[in-house]
Amino acid sequence: MRVHWAALIRLLAPTVIVGGGLLARGYLDQLGDETRIIVANLPYFVAMACLVIAYQFQRLRLLLAAVGTASLFWLIQNYLQVSLGEPDAARLFLVASLGVPLLCAYLLLAPERGLFNTYGLLTAVFFLGLAGLCFVIADGINGADAATRGLFSAKPLEGYILSSGASLLFAAVGFLALVLVIVRDSETEVALAGVLAAGFFSLALLHLDDISVVMGIAGGLSVVWGLLRSSHSMAYRDDLTGLLGRRALNERLNTLGRRYSIAMLDVDHFKKFNDTHGHDVGDDVLKLVASRVKQVGNGGTAYRYGGEEFCVVFPRRSTEDCAAAMDQVRESIANYKMSIRDRKRRPARAKEGSRRRGATKLKSDQVSVTVSAGIAARGDNHPDPESVLSAADTKLYKAKKKGRNCVVY
Ligand code: GH3
Ligand code: MG
Ligand code: MG
Repeated sequence: MRVHWAALIRLLAPTVIVGGGLLARGYLDQLGDETRIIVANLPYFVAMACLVIAYQFQRLRLLLAAVGTASLFWLIQNYLQVSLGEPDAARLFLVASLGVPLLCAYLLLAPERGLFNTYGLLTAVFFLGLAGLCFVIADGINGADAATRGLFSAKPLEGYILSSGASLLFAAVGFLALVLVIVRDSETEVALAGVLAAGFFSLALLHLDDISVVMGIAGGLSVVWGLLRSSHSMAYRDDLTGLLGRRALNERLNTLGRRYSIAMLDVDHFKKFNDTHGHDVGDDVLKLVASRVKQVGNGGTAYRYGGEEFCVVFPRRSTEDCAAAMDQVRESIANYKMSIRDRKRRPARAKEGSRRRGATKLKSDQVSVTVSAGIAARGDNHPDPESVLSAADTKLYKAKKKGRNCVVY
């Protein structure tokens, strides 16, 4: 399991959105009547926008998160604008304070498989079923012993309304969201963390004027942000390796200054590797190579150029500067021994293939690969990114000629 600590920076967006909502709340009473009516309905408008975009990108989890956020807002507006001393309001508040964290946990854990298929339907049905189950759990708590009821009873007068039990539930799901953000490094979990936070403040600070309006908007905007970011990833990131892809590279090349170097890196004998160990193991190796190229030092940014070729752009660096960084990458890949866990995935020809010259089989279940790289810098002979790229490719060809597993510049 890889941990992406850098993914924590993604949480900045929902933090700004939800924090901005909390700050903006204090200014809502300065708005004119007509503007206030619009703002009071904004949570629904934002949720509608979420539905359209989520439908477009076939993102069921975020679609359900938008539905949940709008439903919470509707519930608060229509049933929780009275004292929580009233039994019906207290019951609904308990349902909401269990429902928000539990439904968020479900959306965090459910795999994303699109909208219009059996799995999508089941996910939506289960989501609604879980929402219904919260009523049953709430009634169970209300009929339980005094200690349990105490743990889940709202505290209307202390400036923080959520019960201790519900607060613990929110904290546990918040922790789950945090773990999934750094493990999966994906925008959906970040957006769901924003939805959870918005739901939390809606309920915990229910006594504040307009809190459900601003948090309804903030929850919806977190979803919009998640959808837009994931559509950006779809366009710019390579699916297999998670690296930026060719489109991102082309845009980057247009924005480079006067001094930069470009490295081209290619896996050695990869065709033979695929023939020997199978395409699945080949894909795993590409992911490994990508993860190592991504860690390149000296300010380089890694891109998947295509197939088993990678490109690294080094702004403001000479070829000498980059050569050391690229050689470290080369060495770390060459030294890495990857275990093949599932032997059944290997083709029947594996044994035969491993006997061939140059095959990369080590022990019975360990494999390794090497890479070659070529580097070129912008200069008089190569005045534009395209010619630097092609010069790096020529150097790569030289590295292959030299015997592979080396860097030429
Ligand atoms: P060289 O050392 O000269 O680079 O030899 P090579 O075999 O790596 O070079 P070649 O370009 O002939 O083969 C590249 C192979 O990479 C062809 C294809 O089987 C494999 N390949 C390209 N893209 C992928 C991919 O996404 N997944 C897998 N598993 N293999 C890929
Ligand atoms: Mg190649
Ligand atoms: Mg190759």
